[in-house]
Amino acid sequence: MNIGENIKKINTQLPAHVRLVAVSKTKPVEALLEAYSAGQRIFGENYVQELITKQPLLPADIEWHFIGHLQTNKVKYIAPFVACIQSVDSLKLLREIDKEARKNSRVIDCLLEFGIASDDSKFGFDSQDAFEFLANEQYKNFEGIRICGVMGMGSFVDDEITTRKEYNLLFSIFNRLKNSVFVNESAFCEVSMGMSHDFGIAVAEGSTLVRVGTLVFGERNYK
Ligand SMILES: *Cc1c(COP(=O)(O)O)cnc(C)c1O
Repeated sequence: MNIGENIKKINTQLPAHVRLVAVSKTKPVEALLEAYSAGQRIFGENYVQELITKQPLLPADIEWHFIGHLQTNKVKYIAPFVACIQSVDSLKLLREIDKEARKNSRVIDCLLEFGIASDDSKFGFDSQDAFEFLANEQYKNFEGIRICGVMGMGSFVDDEITTRKEYNLLFSIFNRLKNSVFVNESAFCEVSMGMSHDFGIAVAEGSTLVRVGTLVFGERNYK
């Protein structure tokens, strides 16, 4: 297992407009440093406590993306440094991120997470809620956040047709938003989808950010 080689190999499979988020949850600081030495700068983490423990031990130019379910009462711990929160699944959370970002005089990039999996046990914005909120342009008063796109998790199935359908759905939600609410906002350009087992399909369906853990760092041990 050579993390640097894994990253190079994945990058050769990604078109120039698609960026790799190295998902480093459960992995030690040494593993992240190895990825960093190979040029990797965007890292994805799922757990607040783990992220705030690792962040001070690693280079300051890392772009941290939070990709796990985020409780509103924990936003304050990551707001001072997080570059992007990909897993924004409610208005309540969006408001809290805005508040904490402004306290830190920052603007935090956010992606709206939508539930696209047919085995839907996962989190996600209610698209009705999201569209209503965005249509009201309330979000323009949120100076601590910049909504940069959408994020979704596919079903955990080994079935290309299902995966393709789900990613296609996320891309169509992105397009609807891009062509309406965000039509004049060039920052709204990201579609985060695709993991180790399916990032090729995700890229074909329009992904701009793939979140890859296992193929970069090896299997995870949750103990
Ligand atoms: C863990 C995780 C990933 C990476 O999964 P792999 O299968 O290891 O590539 C991607 N996205 C989210 C939201 C995750 O929690």
